[in-house]
Amino acid sequence: MSTKKIQAIRGMNDLLPEQSTLWQYFEGQVRTLMQRYGYDEIRTPIVEQTALFKRSIGEVTDIVEKEMYTFEDRNGDSLTLRPEGTASCVRAAMEHGLLHNQTQRLWYQGPMFRHERPQKGRYRQFHQIGVETFGLEGPDIDAELILLSARLWKQLGLFEHVTLELNSLGSSEARAAYRERLVAYFDQHFDQLDEDSRRRLSSNPLRILDAKNPAMAEMLAGAPKLIDHLDSESREHFAALTAMLNAAGIDYVLNPRLVRGLDYYGRTVFEWTTTALGSQGTVCAGGRYDGLVEQLGGKPTPAVGFAMGIERLILLLETLDVVPDDARGELDLYLLPIDDTATQPALLLGERLRGELPELALQLHCGGGSFKSRIKKADKSGARLALLLGEDELAKGTATVKFLREDRDQLTLAQDDLTTTLSALLADTSA
Ligand code: ATP
Ligand code: MG
Repeated sequence: MSTKKIQAIRGMNDLLPEQSTLWQYFEGQVRTLMQRYGYDEIRTPIVEQTALFKRSIGEVTDIVEKEMYTFEDRNGDSLTLRPEGTASCVRAAMEHGLLHNQTQRLWYQGPMFRHERPQKGRYRQFHQIGVETFGLEGPDIDAELILLSARLWKQLGLFEHVTLELNSLGSSEARAAYRERLVAYFDQHFDQLDEDSRRRLSSNPLRILDAKNPAMAEMLAGAPKLIDHLDSESREHFAALTAMLNAAGIDYVLNPRLVRGLDYYGRTVFEWTTTALGSQGTVCAGGRYDGLVEQLGGKPTPAVGFAMGIERLILLLETLDVVPDDARGELDLYLLPIDDTATQPALLLGERLRGELPELALQLHCGGGSFKSRIKKADKSGARLALLLGEDELAKGTATVKFLREDRDQLTLAQDDLTTTLSALLADTSA
């Protein structure tokens, strides 16, 4: 048997303890925010039938053409690790009758899988938080989604560092008519199209607008703009949305080349971008997809949603150094039996304190060791206080508080008074 160590799959990351507190802080902010806006969580499997993604995302997209993890299971069924969450969310909502004569505001979070070239901010297993709403067709819900995300950036200290880009893709008829204009324009400039774009010319010409090739930038800037050729309803929808954003004081940049990588979008599309992460600058993206439910066999149902990439947002929090101290998940107290006679009394005292102080983060020293090594562990734990319990303390019914991060004399307290004193000490964060 080979004893070579087995490693994680390229582009799929372990989340180590020192990082997970920041993730928990971020996820906690999102969870509370969703609840405050009246959104309910939905959880779906990470594997679906391959056909679901082909039919929803579109055959001629990066995801379906080259990024999906698709395999045959033991029954010979073609399954795919989900590359995004909208399709699964729509499938589940349809399957369980959530779209029948009702509106829904849902959110989800979890891993997504795409076989891309791994680099900073781009992984093969990454995590998204997604929000999807169903049954609401007006611009008010589009605006709410943007305001909800803006509030999240504000809470996280990111708002000054992100830009909202906005566009409208109009109705499918308007897009079809525009597509012809666009193809005619690209035909005239065929010699300036790169290989990828030539291939897309017949299959998905709108995606050419999204090309990052700098050599094509000038030619693309001169292309006709869909926003100038919208149907009147989409134009009104977009005008109402921008009016609401103006009234709410949310700045945006109109980006006529914002078309999004998935087929199912129409009307409003938006992205929140940052310049602080290099070329992986989109941290949140979404839009309206009124046709998707019907495309997947349901009744016509207006829908709009977005997804944000957790890794990129965590990177942004770290890059900008806007992580609050209390997001680091630090311990308040390290409870230290000085010798082995104090082991059991310390265990019981720890339980009593946790019961009486529900906010207290207390770690009990386990595993014995010399006094010196115990104190070392107390210091390494990151706790602000150590609570020492030895023979002397046990005899007198006291405990000793040592300040691990402050230049302060230790205190000897009666065990009966510990709860009151500790809660006062911990509330005093001035030190
Ligand atoms: P990009 O243009 O960067 O490839 P995308 O259009 O493929 O993004 P979406 O499908 O809209 O991305 O996904 C929404 C968000 O999920 C992105 O804005 C990004 O923050 C994040 N995301 C997408 N793909 C990855 C990935 N491979 N690794 C990490 N995050 C990702
Ligand atoms: Mg992509």
